[in-house]
Amino acid sequence: MSTAVVNLIDHPVIQTKLTELRDFTADHRKFRALLNEIASLMVYEVTRDWPTKPRPVQTPLERTTGRVLARQVTLVPILRAGLGMADGVLRLLPDARLGHLGVYRDEKTLEPVSYYQKLPPDIADTEVLLIDPMLATGGSGSAAVSRLKQAGVTAMKFVCLVAAPEGIAALHRQHPDVPIYCAAIDRQLNKKGYIMPGLGDAGDRLFGT
Ligand code: URA
Repeated sequence: MSTAVVNLIDHPVIQTKLTELRDFTADHRKFRALLNEIASLMVYEVTRDWPTKPRPVQTPLERTTGRVLARQVTLVPILRAGLGMADGVLRLLPDARLGHLGVYRDEKTLEPVSYYQKLPPDIADTEVLLIDPMLATGGSGSAAVSRLKQAGVTAMKFVCLVAAPEGIAALHRQHPDVPIYCAAIDRQLNKKGYIMPGLGDAGDRLFGT
């Protein structure tokens, strides 16, 4: 497996919050808060190489030229667990638009099933962050990336919290052009497709279901 496209963000503050998030005693309120906080913190690294453009600005003292992001941003959470990272990312990128992709994993076949798609019409002209806390088999992630490519997206990054080596390999095999950002690469998948040690079912923990 190539790890060249995986960006592991192992900042001490993120690692501390991720450990609290993994703890099975964290209830949905705490889980939700931590997930959004980590997502916010990850934005700094994820967006580090985005292009900027000059913009004139009048300070209280004189006119100067600052820099701002060159392109619009679209955030695309994969439903439903991806929603848990959206507010955290939006906190730092408040002008971003939000698309939605509904992909669930059939629990028997572990294959992705797409059931919902709503994207900004000009998404192809924007920087896209595809977000989902767990990159497990890579099936849903790969399906979501394919959908975005069909919509014309070329500049996209996949942002997750915890990745399994199997999921990284699968996503990289199908979409070697899409960089992956994560806060942890865990050991492996278990027979049910859960990431070990992981944090359990992110959607259930997030929504209290
Ligand atoms: N989805 C989850 O929410 N957790 C896992 O461990 C794997 C997939």
